[in-house]
Formats: sequence, C-alpha cells, structure tokens
Amino acid sequence: MAPETQSNPAALPLPPMKWDAWGDPARAKPLPDDVKGLLAAALGVSGEGADELTLDQTALRSSELAEDDQRALSAIVGESWLSTADADRLPRSGGKSTLDLLRRKSREPQDAPDAVVLPGSEEEIAAVLALCTERRIAVVPFGGGTSVVGGVDPDRSGFTAVISLDLRRFDRLHELDEVSGEAVLGAGLTGPQAEELLATRGFELGHYPQSFRYATIGGFAATRSSGQDSAGHGRFDEMVRGLRAITPAGTVDLGRAPASAAGPDLRELFLGSEGAFGVITAVRLRVHPLPAAKAHEAWSFPDFATGAAALRAVEQQGTGPTVIRLSDESETFVNLAMTDKIGGSQVTGGCLAVTVFEGTAEQVAARHEATRTALLAAGGTSLGAEPAEAWEHGRFDAPYLRDSLLAAGALCETLETATNWANLGRLKSAVTESLQSSLRASGTESMVMCHISHVYPTGASLYFTVVAAQRGDAIAQWTGVKRAACDAIMANGGTITHHHAVGADHRPWLDQEIGEVGVRILRAVKDAVDPAGILNPGKLIP
Ligand SMILES: Cc1cc2nc3c(=O)[nH]c(=O)nc-3n(C[C@H](O)[C@H](O)[C@H](O)COP(=O)(O)OP(=O)(O)OC[C@H]3O[C@@H](n4cnc5c(N)ncnc54)[C@H](O)[C@@H]3O)c2cc1C
Repeated sequence: MAPETQSNPAALPLPPMKWDAWGDPARAKPLPDDVKGLLAAALGVSGEGADELTLDQTALRSSELAEDDQRALSAIVGESWLSTADADRLPRSGGKSTLDLLRRKSREPQDAPDAVVLPGSEEEIAAVLALCTERRIAVVPFGGGTSVVGGVDPDRSGFTAVISLDLRRFDRLHELDEVSGEAVLGAGLTGPQAEELLATRGFELGHYPQSFRYATIGGFAATRSSGQDSAGHGRFDEMVRGLRAITPAGTVDLGRAPASAAGPDLRELFLGSEGAFGVITAVRLRVHPLPAAKAHEAWSFPDFATGAAALRAVEQQGTGPTVIRLSDESETFVNLAMTDKIGGSQVTGGCLAVTVFEGTAEQVAARHEATRTALLAAGGTSLGAEPAEAWEHGRFDAPYLRDSLLAAGALCETLETATNWANLGRLKSAVTESLQSSLRASGTESMVMCHISHVYPTGASLYFTVVAAQRGDAIAQWTGVKRAACDAIMANGGTITHHHAVGADHRPWLDQEIGEVGVRILRAVKDAVDPAGILNPGKLIP
C-alpha cells in the first residue's frame, strides 16, 4: 500500500461542520411549532435551552505545548501543518455526542488539544510518535471527529501535553483491484470522498452510517462502524481485507489473503482499537460494482414482536435485502407526527419497516420477491415504495433535529446495543424501563423510541432514541441516565456497544464485557505496541 498523501493545504477543504452542533448549518432543521407544543405538553420541555455561544464567547484552555516541542513537531510535518490556534483546536476538542454538544454551550473554560498536527506521510507519523514517546506527549488520532463516546477527548493526564493527530491528508485511493474487488483507501478519506473516488471507476464501498458525510475510513475501522446497508454489504469490519498502522513500536501491515490460518487474525486487534494501538493510515476493503438496479418497499407490522420475528425470518432465510430495519410503536408514531412523507396516509400506527434491494436487475427482482414472501408470511402489510424512498432520501438528516431539540430545552440522545434474537424483547424492555425510570427520577417524563438497525442470523442490534426535558445540570442528568442504561444493558445480556465503540464513555463497562483476562490481554497488546501509553489515553482499555 503506497503511503502517498495529499500535500497542498489549499486542496483540503473541510466539509462544513458546526463546531457546537451537528453538520452543515445550511441543513439545520428548526422544530415546527406544533412539535414544540407537543414537547411542552407531553414532557414539560421549556422551549429554552442554553444559549448558543459564538466562537469569541468561548473560553478555551490555552495551549500548554512547550515552544521547544512545537518547534520539534513543526520540523517533522512542516510549519503549515501544525497549529495551536483556537479556531483549529476547538473543532478537535471532542466528538458529537449530546454530552459533547452540551459542554460546548458552557461558558466555563473548554478543554482542547494543545496543538493540531496534520502529518503527510507514514514516516512523519512514525517520527511524531517517536518524539511524543520521548517527550511524554499524548497523541489522539483524529478522523472526522464524529465519535459519540468521548473517543477523541484530549486526555492529557500523566503527560506534558496532548496533540490531535488529524489524518485528513491521507486522502487517496491508492489502488483498485477490479478483478479481486478490493480497494486500498487512505484513512483520512470521508465517506463521500471515498465513494466519489470509487464511483469514477464504477465501484462502491456501500458503507453508509448516519455520520457518513463526515466520518472517515480510518475512523470506521478504528471503531468497527456499522452502516445502514450492513444487511447487504456487512459491517465495516467485515469489509476489511487488510490495513496498515503505525505504532510507536513500528509499522504493521496486516492481511495477505482473503482468508488465512496463520494464527490469530491480528487485523482484529486494530479493528476497534480506537487510536489506542496505532495510527491507521490505509485500509484494504472489499468493494463491489455500483448497483445497476434498486428497489424499495416499506412495511407495517401490528407490533414490534411480530415485526422482529419477520426480520429474523428474512435474515435467517438469507433473502438478501441491502437494508432492513424496523421501528417500534413509539418511533413509528413520532415519525408519523414529524413528517407526512413516511407512511403517508396509509400508516396509522403499528411498526414501520423499511427494505431496500440492490444489485443487477435480476438479483433485485429475486431478492425483493423472496423478502416480500417472507414478510407477508410473517404478518406484514406492504406500504409500497414511497415511505422507504422517503426514509432513504432523508437518512442523513435526522441528527440535525437533536440540535433543535437541545436548543428548545429538551434532552435528546441515542444509545445502542445488540443481543441474540431470543433475548431481544427482554433487553428492549429492560433498557426502555431503565431510561424511563431514571429520567422520571430526574424530574421529567420521557419518550423512548427504538429500532432494529442491523440484523444477523443469530440476533440484532437495538438503537434507542431518548427525548425528555432538561432538568438542572443536563450533563449530570444524562450522565446518570446513561449509567443506569449501561448497567441495564449489561445485566440483561446486551453488548455495551454494537457500533458506537467504547471510547471514554463505555470504558467502565468493558471489564464486564470481556472479563478480567480480556482486559489483561488488551493491556499486554498496548504494552507491546505503545509502551509509553501515549496513544489516546483514557479510551477503550480499563
Ligand atoms: C449523528 C451521528 C450519527 C452516527 N451514526 C453512526 C452509524 O450509523 N454507525 C456507526 O457505526 N457509527 C455512527 N456514529 C458514530 C461515529 O460516526 C463512528 O464511530 C465513526 O466510525 C467515527 O469515525 P470518525 O472518522 O469520525 O472518527 P473520530 O470520531 O475522529 O474517531 C473515533 C475513534 O477512532 C480513532 N481514530 C480515528 N481515525 C483513526 C485512525 N486513522 N487511526 C487510528 N485511530 C483512529 C480516534 O482516536 C477515536 O478513538 C454516529 C455519530 C454521529 C455523531
């Protein structure tokens, strides 16, 4: 894999991303007045959240990078690729969880990395890591900054300073092997950049998480991301054929063949390593020809249990939808209230499911027909193509609503887990009950919505969206609620995270997830690749 990277600062435009909210300000979604009224009546939402601050109203922690360290780092990457300016440090000061966004509304001094460093080659990364090891400077690898688990927090405890290592310059399609259906993509490419490069050659990766417009190839690998088309194309980790990573101990280049019996698969150590084991520079990925045909169909089920059984039947029969997801009764109700497009006049309640099919015209027809047959047999009623097309059209826009809800004094956040089919109902009830009761204890009623976002032959993921009223210190309020929900997940057989990763926020539960020996294994790997512990301290490893 060639480590060649982009070298012209002018050629690195950032996708527009508000520093204290989600995404492009031009796509903001103000709440309709009747929704505000509903929130006030049902949940006691005040209508007034914390004021938005302008950049000059924020108090940012000053850079503590010693002048000598700054000079040494600049000598490695070149002066124009290191910045200690507030305007560069602030957007790398954290991710995009609700806690992150609430913190950005605070007038208290905000934490931030002491410098932003943008290396342009693997040699530069290796030199930066060597220098930081020697001078005890923490290094936080940074992709799109869309982490929702505190994954890019600038934790400097025990170190002299912390830098954000932005991978943006690793933005090349290095190789496309059309025969094997493999592409080597630079770690800093965003979802749209990667798809555009592949599309010019007639190929697609097909990884579409809701954060698609901003998140990067390296971030997807480092967090084991899952996209909305994962029923058809698999999770991101399932697409990875190989990867390169620079560690303080040296370079690893993993994945020689489509399958191998050469001992444990070390790629797995870097997938989900969240910047703690090495800096991923390039990923070799399975790609497929751009689909020639596509079909959509939405479904209604009388209740969640019936819908879940239908999705299980489809997945276990392997009928081949690219997308299949199911909203529960509450989420279906809210979707109907928010838009007249989803479901139109045909849906009056129950649970809405969406299916999408891709491939050649023959494949699409066959997959669609087999899936229809299974869903009809399982009690589904077809709603036609339009609601599913409407879902696809707006699928990256939902996060903008959170900003409007926070601004209106509502608390809004998502959380996710997964379990086997047999345990799905129990886990859903336990997490819902935990969220509702801990929010009630904090002084507010809540709306807890859930959907099945990803399916597997043996189980599925559950994705919860919570809306309530902010009460008192909203950061403390949500921290307590989330803690109770995580405890409920662990007590009821779920994984602490299906695709958001561990970061800082889920770290207290990782020992329950992988056990004491599992934690010792992770620590041993960390000692082997990063003995000084400079890489992303405070994340992943308990
Ligand atoms: C609105 C919204 C919707 C989301 N939807 C989804 C979804 O549908 N599916 C899903 O899976 N996730 C989702 N996420 C979570 C997030 O987008 C993913 O975790 C994503 O994979 C992070 O990619 P990133 O490039 O933004 O990484 P960052 O946020 O920059 O970093 C995430 C972690 O990976 C590490 N990292 C980043 N790049 C590298 C690298 N090159 N080498 C080593 N470590 C690195 C960082 O240090 C950090 O620990 C969503 C987040 C938001 C805010």
